[in-house]
Amino acid sequence: MKSETSKRIERLLRSVGLRRTGPREAILGVLMRAGKPLTQEEIAAKLGAAIPNKVTIYRTLESFCKASLVHKAFMQKRAWHFELADRCTESQCHPHFTCKKCGVISCLVGLPVSIIKGVKKGFVIHRQRVQLEGLCPRCVGKKGR
Ligand SMILES: [Zn+2]
Ligand SMILES: [Zn+2]
Ligand SMILES: [Zn+2]
Repeated sequence: MKSETSKRIERLLRSVGLRRTGPREAILGVLMRAGKPLTQEEIAAKLGAAIPNKVTIYRTLESFCKASLVHKAFMQKRAWHFELADRCTESQCHPHFTCKKCGVISCLVGLPVSIIKGVKKGFVIHRQRVQLEGLCPRCVGKKGR
């Protein structure tokens, strides 16, 4: 019996015409279970000994991005955060929120953000990423620490 996750991984890879390989399945599995953006380093830590090769992880993520299976959600502390693209629309990623106090990252799926308009002629927008910063509900409650 195959798990729901591995069936989903199989479908995702097939939908973009990528062959199933160990690293691809493992990395998609990590992103799927996380449900939030992860840096390459965090992905590597979760993979553990399964894929010790950084280059393999990097190349796999790049091929996923190229196939639009994975998005670079945002850059923070000079590291891209990767996540599955299945909760984004064609031209817009769902917004992300980073708490300035505890650093927790939240996917604000379903939060409507209008696509910017009125960009000068000659610019072509492919994708809009919105990143918000502030305090998360837990930190708002904690006063003066
Ligand atoms: Zn996205
Ligand atoms: Zn917080
Ligand atoms: Zn997200």
